[in-house]
Amino acid sequence: MNKIHRFIVAAFLPERCPYCNRVVNMGKTACPECKAHFPETIREGHAVGGYPYTAPFSYNGKFAEAVKRFKFNGHKEYAEKLALQITNAVKESFGDIKFDCITCVPMHKNQLRERGYNQAELLAKQISKQLNIPYETLLVKHRENQPQHSLTSSQKRDNVRGVYKAVNTDKINGNNILIVDDILTTGHTLGECCRILSKAGGEKIYCAALCAKIIR
Ligand SMILES: [Zn+2]
Repeated sequence: MNKIHRFIVAAFLPERCPYCNRVVNMGKTACPECKAHFPETIREGHAVGGYPYTAPFSYNGKFAEAVKRFKFNGHKEYAEKLALQITNAVKESFGDIKFDCITCVPMHKNQLRERGYNQAELLAKQISKQLNIPYETLLVKHRENQPQHSLTSSQKRDNVRGVYKAVNTDKINGNNILIVDDILTTGHTLGECCRILSKAGGEKIYCAALCAKIIR
């Protein structure tokens, strides 16, 4: 958003800190109190299958609350501010990678109809703008499955197997791809998405999420 646009929007709808939902000054990414809680280091590791990930936050406290409001309470307007933190993490962790496109973990159409939006897609599209790298739809979720958090570790791997398929494969083949999700917990979902992208000819596949908390 440019300055004039921000001003017009702010006149009707004040900007809010995504981490506590208090009103913040125009263009601020967080209120000073929440900003003081930002971790000094980012989270890095590998999703299942060995695909590297980066995330600015752990999934706890006010960062988990932010994700919940963003995901379940319709606070779509958080996307730009939350994405900015992921963009910073991507620059720090994968600054030397030249990405050809950015995509996201897709939702099944029934789930999308229920929620009205895919929070991972909103983040990915903002990161695409912030990094000036094209956003592409590269995966669809063609089968519904159980929520990952309700399953045991071994069930999680089977639960995601074969639920995603590649689309727009000309945009995958030979390309370096950044795939975005909101939370990384077991790394099975992102790992499976990476596997499909890789199988469709993706060159280097990297992951980014807002919060990462590896539980396996
Ligand atoms: Zn705050």
